[in-house]
Amino acid sequence: MNLARFPRIRFAHLPTPLEPLPNLTRALEGPEIWIKRDDCTGMSTGGNKTRKLEYLMAEAREQGADIVLTQGATQSNHARQTAACAAKMGIDCHLLLEDRTGKQDHDYTENGNVFLDYLHGASVERRASNPDMNGELAKVGARMIGEGRKPYLIPGGGSNPIGALGYVNAAMELIGQANDMGLRIDQVVHATGSAGTQAGLIAGLTGIRSGVALLGISVRAARAKQEENVFKLACATSDLCGASGAVRREDIVANSDYVGTGYGFPTPEALDAIQMLARLEGILLDPVYTGKGMAGLIDLIRQGRFKKGQNIVFVHTGGSVGLFGYVDDFEFSRAKNARAD
Ligand SMILES: *Cc1c(COP(=O)(O)O)cnc(C)c1O
Repeated sequence: MNLARFPRIRFAHLPTPLEPLPNLTRALEGPEIWIKRDDCTGMSTGGNKTRKLEYLMAEAREQGADIVLTQGATQSNHARQTAACAAKMGIDCHLLLEDRTGKQDHDYTENGNVFLDYLHGASVERRASNPDMNGELAKVGARMIGEGRKPYLIPGGGSNPIGALGYVNAAMELIGQANDMGLRIDQVVHATGSAGTQAGLIAGLTGIRSGVALLGISVRAARAKQEENVFKLACATSDLCGASGAVRREDIVANSDYVGTGYGFPTPEALDAIQMLARLEGILLDPVYTGKGMAGLIDLIRQGRFKKGQNIVFVHTGGSVGLFGYVDDFEFSRAKNARAD
């Protein structure tokens, strides 16, 4: 697949490292676990949205945009990375942040990603929980056109075929690294939300006929809905890349057993997974996405779904800044604060 024909702005530190997790592997006594460090893409502490924004922001520039608009949850990593890329490009950024959790504490509403949104100079509008945030975004875009601006609208998570190109590229990068290292990858696992990461990865993995299986651990939607969203976007992304027909329905696999109460509410298992990675590997996961993704991987290994002798790659999609929005969800932190009171 020839991605060089798409306009792109280099924001990310690439390739991101592909590394073993020896201590976690030993602790679980199962397959060899590897990690693809897309938390290290560089912009404003990094994360998966930066790869998508390389293609999206290039399109914004081609269209002559003077402001970029996007939306996400209050602690959106996508909003923060968009604000950082817009800052670097020298254009304005306006964010719609949706209150999906009702959490009132100051850390959640102002710290973590929200603090960085403001630090990068973005303007922010808050919204109550709303099932049609992309519709809200379109309304704000129309308002800005009325004010004489040239807005470029990015859907939530940067998940459209242009954004997903970033993960087609990531799939080729990963397989290239594995080939160089002589690493036979049996399974790739990651946290899936707005679907662009999984759609791009599967379009890439199938487009180059890698034969590598992909599993998305859902952080929001039920399995059938998530797979439908990913399949639709994966087919559109394949079409865009000139690899139409490469993705089959059975290539799309999501597991929504680890969502818990809902999007943005960390499960006890996710909090355990975050502490496990912090303490065994010195790696920071996040409370909304990668904590649940890793909790899913750990549980599936304990169930025997993945076995000794296999090589599993966990794609770390970033988000650790979100930890600062969830400090009190950690038992040790609540206990410490209670003593201080
Ligand atoms: C957005 C995000 C995801 C999910 O990626 P999608 O492309 O939205 O499915 C996973 N992890 C982190 C940290 C994210 O910010």
